[in-house]
Amino acid sequence: MAKKQVEVLIIGSGIAGMCAGAYLSHEGYKVLVVEALPRIGGHCSTIEYNGIKCTTGVVGPGLGGPLEELFQHVGAEFNVRECGIPHYLINGKVVELPAKGGLRALLSAATDDEDEIEGVVRAFARAMNWAPPPETITMKEWLLQFAKTKSVLDLFQTMAAATAIVGIDQISAKGFFLFLKQHRGFRDWGVCPEGSIALPSSLAKVIERHEGKIWTNSPAIHILSEDGKVTGAIVRRGGKELEVKASVVISNCGPGRTVALAGKENFGKGYVEALGRLTPARAIGIHIKSEVPLLDYDHLLVVGARRVNAIFQLTSVCPELAPPGTHYLVAGADPVSSLNPIEAREEIDLCLQDLREILPAFESHAEVLMTGIYHGDWPAMFSIAGQAMPQRTPIVNLYAVGDGFISEPGMTAMAGAAQSGIAAAKDAATRLKHA
Ligand SMILES: Cc1cc2nc3c(=O)[nH]c(=O)nc-3n(C[C@H](O)[C@H](O)[C@H](O)COP(=O)(O)OP(=O)(O)OC[C@H]3O[C@@H](n4cnc5c(N)ncnc54)[C@H](O)[C@@H]3O)c2cc1C
Repeated sequence: MAKKQVEVLIIGSGIAGMCAGAYLSHEGYKVLVVEALPRIGGHCSTIEYNGIKCTTGVVGPGLGGPLEELFQHVGAEFNVRECGIPHYLINGKVVELPAKGGLRALLSAATDDEDEIEGVVRAFARAMNWAPPPETITMKEWLLQFAKTKSVLDLFQTMAAATAIVGIDQISAKGFFLFLKQHRGFRDWGVCPEGSIALPSSLAKVIERHEGKIWTNSPAIHILSEDGKVTGAIVRRGGKELEVKASVVISNCGPGRTVALAGKENFGKGYVEALGRLTPARAIGIHIKSEVPLLDYDHLLVVGARRVNAIFQLTSVCPELAPPGTHYLVAGADPVSSLNPIEAREEIDLCLQDLREILPAFESHAEVLMTGIYHGDWPAMFSIAGQAMPQRTPIVNLYAVGDGFISEPGMTAMAGAAQSGIAAAKDAATRLKHA
């Protein structure tokens, strides 16, 4: 079998793997990234369809935070155009989020009960600024102490589902407020004019500039270990298998696959059981093309619909994503429960019923390009916010990174995945320096 030697092998080119690779390349280490698919980026990538740059997941990367800082640190271009003000659809009314007093404005659209509004606003301010609620209650349980109106509960469900891909009955109250603080209420985000793949591609340039390599169509099929340490991996490339020897392996291919590649027996029962307790996030994405704009603003958060929680008219921010005169939208939805198997046909029908009701021109002008259901082996995220696993694994010099391995409280999704990749890369750099 052919052999190749590198200092760091990264399995998976999701945003976490690419952040780790760019950081370590910038530090001077020889990096190889292997990716099973024909394109890089995982959930942060682009598929061109009918001239439209459709996203494979990420709609809007957050601005600022660990992701943008990493780009600055390694000298990579961060081409993200800022979005406009969020609009909410509540009880049939569109509310533009004001710069101040946003929560009160949204609650006033959800209920006429002044006492309820006052109670929620005060409790919210207390939880954000003074005493965070306990880990032991869910966000829904926390809310039920102050709110009784269905639209108020629906409003918080939309905030959680549309921004953190989680239900208020899943996330702890503490986790929800930590998320809001870390992501600054998710007001600051943008769209990539060249498609989401531009971000991993920009990091790929850093890796290649430092003589690292990125191999697509090259799945790792086995992580090799000896005496409790990893020694590299077997990679399938061009129909052949080769052994890649590495001092450090960083796995970005998800918790289950990482354990399967390295062998369950090498991790210890406790670790495997802890991974099994992670709650994956599930989501539906409906990709829409239209000859007329379907929204008057660039995104609408939808409260109380059957399934749809947000609609992003991405071409309002970045017309470059579609041919001139064509509009590209993505509707996000949360399937009914994170526990039951998803009935795909039924879920999509419910999303389409929502879209017909919300968007007056949908029936006459819209074309559904594709629908993505993220669950099972390919969830929207391997873990919801607040259920962090560390990046270090029980196997020395094997790190696990991605949205299932976020160590910074309150971080989630793409920013969290980036944070996990950077944290693992920093730790690995220290070890390599002293090896
Ligand atoms: C519909 C949707 C919308 C979203 N919108 C947003 C958003 O607007 N903002 C935001 O912050 N987050 C968003 N997210 C979440 C975000 O996309 C993810 O949290 C993030 O991109 C995950 O990155 P990751 O590094 O964990 O890995 P992933 O993107 O999961 O990538 C893992 C990579 O590993 C590869 N791989 C797997 N097995 C192997 C193997 N054996 N060998 C080699 N490679 C392998 C895969 O092919 C893949 O490329 C969204 C997700 C979805 C589904």
